Amino acid sequence: MPGLIERYMDRLPFEPGDPIITLDEGSTPLVQAPRLSERVGAEVWLKLEGANPTGSFKDRGMTCAVSAAVRDGARAVICASTGNTAAALAAYAARAGIRGVVIVPEGKIAMGKLAQALMHGAQVVALQGNFDRALELVRKVAARHPIALVNSVNDFRIEGQKTAAYEIAEALGDLDALCIPVGNAGNITAYWRGFREVGLSPRMFGFQAAGAAPLVHGSPVAAPETVASAIRIGNPARWEQAMDAMTSSRGGVDAVSDEQILDAYRFLARDEGVFCEPASAASVAGLLAHGAGGAQRVVCVLTGHGLKDPDTALASVGGVIPCAPELDMIERVIVGQGLS
Ligand SMILES: *Cc1c(COP(=O)(O)O)cnc(C)c1O
Repeated sequence: MPGLIERYMDRLPFEPGDPIITLDEGSTPLVQAPRLSERVGAEVWLKLEGANPTGSFKDRGMTCAVSAAVRDGARAVICASTGNTAAALAAYAARAGIRGVVIVPEGKIAMGKLAQALMHGAQVVALQGNFDRALELVRKVAARHPIALVNSVNDFRIEGQKTAAYEIAEALGDLDALCIPVGNAGNITAYWRGFREVGLSPRMFGFQAAGAAPLVHGSPVAAPETVASAIRIGNPARWEQAMDAMTSSRGGVDAVSDEQILDAYRFLARDEGVFCEPASAASVAGLLAHGAGGAQRVVCVLTGHGLKDPDTALASVGGVIPCAPELDMIERVIVGQGLS
């Protein structure tokens, strides 16, 4: 499939002949979740955004933001990131042949994302502060220097990300509810815009981690904390728009604990065969804990791939079983595990 700018150019702020920086992002799977459906008593689908080229939905926004930056003559792009925006920026900047700079909270970014940003040749700056501070600073840097800011405060990001809603509409025709993790709140803003543009208004349920739930409390969180590093954000940039999406669609916002997030994370991997990252599992944790207002057809957005954060995965499950290289030893081990 061609990338999403080419597929949806008539509904995006691009014209034929514009430079397009793409890795053929989008067109991600929408799979049924039979065991989850049974647990919640509804038809549940999973939108697997981890199947994007760099492993998260950030690619949808980044193809648009970087293409627009190149069209405007930018020689460099910058963002603050909890990890996935950094990975996507780095890949699309590499593709465009321009400089990429990412500011990440020191020690707070998952290993896979850091490896991606460095491999793609971005300059990675580890800030001794959290994401919210990093975003404040990059906004100032971008205002003072000729470097394009590609955080989701950049509307091209929202434009690109809204295409996931188009894809869901094409696949299902209609749906009753969308469950989605909320960090900086760009993605829920984008889905709502996309659904409205195709004439749908599913109830939008946003879920935040309990230790980073400013929208639930109604005030910023100074020191956000959660295992779900991608949504460890205390002062979302798209606050009003996210609240508008949830109120106008008669949805809502709720918090899920780290324990509920990790339970959903393991459940998806073991019972649905889908390995997402912890932040992504917040959508399913929220559906399990709070429901979706009695909706019958529900889509949960799984925002990023599980391989992004191998440390959390390995800390969440049992270890490997050591074994001597002999047939009887192997048999003893696997028969002992219930094979007979
Ligand atoms: C960025 C991100 C989120 C949060 O999206 P926002 O637009 O910041 O609300 C959730 N999950 C993953 C994996 C992400 O990378």
